[in-house]
Amino acid sequence: MEFDLIELIRSRCAMTRADVRLGIGDDAALLSPPAGHELAVSTDTLVAGVHFAAGTAARDLGWKALAVNLSDLAAMGATPAWALLSLTLPEPDRTFVGGFGEGFAELAAQHGVALVGGDTTRGPLAIGMTVHGFVPPGRALRREGARAGDFVFVTGTLGDAAAGLRCLDRGDPRAHGLFNAPPDTRETLVRRLERPTPRIAAGAALREFANSCIDISDGLLADLGHVATRSGVGIEIDADELPASSALLALFERDERLALQAAGGDDYELAFSVPPARAGEMQRDLARIGAGATRIGRVVAGDRARLLRADGSELILQRRGWEHFA
Ligand code: ADP
Ligand code: MG
Repeated sequence: MEFDLIELIRSRCAMTRADVRLGIGDDAALLSPPAGHELAVSTDTLVAGVHFAAGTAARDLGWKALAVNLSDLAAMGATPAWALLSLTLPEPDRTFVGGFGEGFAELAAQHGVALVGGDTTRGPLAIGMTVHGFVPPGRALRREGARAGDFVFVTGTLGDAAAGLRCLDRGDPRAHGLFNAPPDTRETLVRRLERPTPRIAAGAALREFANSCIDISDGLLADLGHVATRSGVGIEIDADELPASSALLALFERDERLALQAAGGDDYELAFSVPPARAGEMQRDLARIGAGATRIGRVVAGDRARLLRADGSELILQRRGWEHFA
């Protein structure tokens, strides 16, 4: 599309790297992966009205489009390097593209990610992004590999993004009352939705410890269900152990909070399993890099992820997670 839009994106995302031989501007980028590493590659698309509300700020979208992609690299234990951006815009909107580039650049700078190419087309607003990262050969974290006996952990807190979405949705009857909540509490939750933090450092540290790992995009139970299936195991999660932020605790009663924590999407935390003998060292290592994790359950013989009450009975949620095209 318009050359000056591409030029605007390029100038906003000025992060450069020595391993980019040729970046934006030719028919393809030329990249030099480090010798002796595997390349981890992942792509994700955000569609207006499906993955974000039409009025979402361009800056927040720029951040989030990169964040959800980097989260996939974090879940593999990979170190990010390069990104490609596929932008579909209803019109050549310089204000939008400038804001988008700013948000993207803010997060890209934190992780040394260079934007090396992409595509710009006209159509309903959608953002596709592809990221590349490096991982030592054979050391990537996978969904398969969880073993009966492993402890299950999660980084950060759960349910904040889903709560933030509810704070924004004035049409949702369950949001009633949230509008009277302290603005900073609401703001904290909405920020977690709009500016997720990819757990890159934690993912890299976990290569040393974890038997399996996944990032939570669709909801804890749904995503741990994928780990259970791929690993051929069952996973038991203790409802009372799920970590909650003080904002979530302040605004939601127990049952509703549990539903948000176990089935709310968009957390972008890492859920992983570790052999019990390595759990203490893993927690000290994560603490050293300022990335705490909470033990929330265990891997057992079985075939799915289940949420348990303190008495061991299963807690069935109406909804296990975000369902695509539901
Ligand atoms: P071609 O027609 O050869 O595919 P384009 O005009 O689509 O070339 O793109 C020109 C250059 O600009 C390419 O290097 C491409 O990677 C880059 N580019 C286009 N759109 C974007 C974008 N949204 N973000 C980053 N780079 C882009
Ligand atoms: Mg093109």
